[in-house]
Amino acid sequence: MRLLLSNIWIVEELAIEARSLTKSYGGARGIVDVDLRVGPGQVLGLVGANGAGKTTFMRTLLDFVRPTSGAVTVFGRDSRRDSVAVRQVTTYLPGELVIPPRLTGWEALGRFAFARAGVDRSRVQDLADRLDLDLSRKVGDLSKGNKQKVGLVLAFAPRSRLLVLDEPTSGLDPLLQREFAALVAEWTADGATVLLSSHVMAEVEQIAQQVALMREGRIQVVDSIATITSQARRRGRVTPRSDADLSELAAALATVPGMSAVHVDDGAVRFACAGDMDAVVKALAAWPLRALDVAHADLEDAFFFAYDGPDVEDGPAR
Ligand code: ATP
Repeated sequence: MRLLLSNIWIVEELAIEARSLTKSYGGARGIVDVDLRVGPGQVLGLVGANGAGKTTFMRTLLDFVRPTSGAVTVFGRDSRRDSVAVRQVTTYLPGELVIPPRLTGWEALGRFAFARAGVDRSRVQDLADRLDLDLSRKVGDLSKGNKQKVGLVLAFAPRSRLLVLDEPTSGLDPLLQREFAALVAEWTADGATVLLSSHVMAEVEQIAQQVALMREGRIQVVDSIATITSQARRRGRVTPRSDADLSELAAALATVPGMSAVHVDDGAVRFACAGDMDAVVKALAAWPLRALDVAHADLEDAFFFAYDGPDVEDGPAR
């Protein structure tokens, strides 16, 4: 990223830059030709089905997985050659965190976090309070959600420049998911960069500015959430005042660019349309209408669009 300030070019280091990054496990595909750039202070959500390659990509950043070809840098440092330097500024929270069950939360932090610069008891206690976690209990006695909270305290305590969080909110209830979102916002306001994977689209939409959709080891789309959702289909339902208008109205809607799944159902015409609604509204202008409902296009719709293409289920406008 480059900024021009009074005719001086300041080259801002990318937090993550992957170039043609490929990992094969023997003959099996892990990730393929991944190119990805994440700017400093950004939150990028990595989404994709099981086995898409999210974890493999994350682990290459810390040299836990060695790429078969290509390279990835973290703040300009090569993940392989400079792995020690990369790990000093990066926190990785694995999807399945294994902490010896006999340790208490405090002991786990003592073992895994207090060695890092800037981690102190009061900051850890503050994080535990915010996540409603009792650090004096043995990890083996904690519920799945509470174990995940220990992982989050481990991840947020060191104030790393880059946080790589694999499914960080799995097992957390909605209130704690909100607290997690607040922590990410505070940390990035302070300059941290966050890469997180999630299956919960609503969460990614709430937390990240950018999203990368992965499919079968490749990055399918990487763009801002706003752009991706603006291209997604919205489901709609239009109810004319007179049933006599239904088939003509459906025929007119079917000619709108980006339109799919137009059909008459129970006194209304249902449809799904990609892109903006301008042409839809204009196509409807000739008929007296009782109601028009158009659902918000969310990331989940965009995700399935990228996976499945334009055929959609004839679901109701939500
Ligand atoms: P999930 O959402 O289920 O965690 P993911 O998107 O994180 O999935 P990865 O775990 O990165 O996906 O897996 C990508 C592909 O690489 C899968 O086909 C998986 O079977 C394969 N894979 C991952 N780790 C190994 C391994 N150690 N040995 C062999 N194949 C592996």
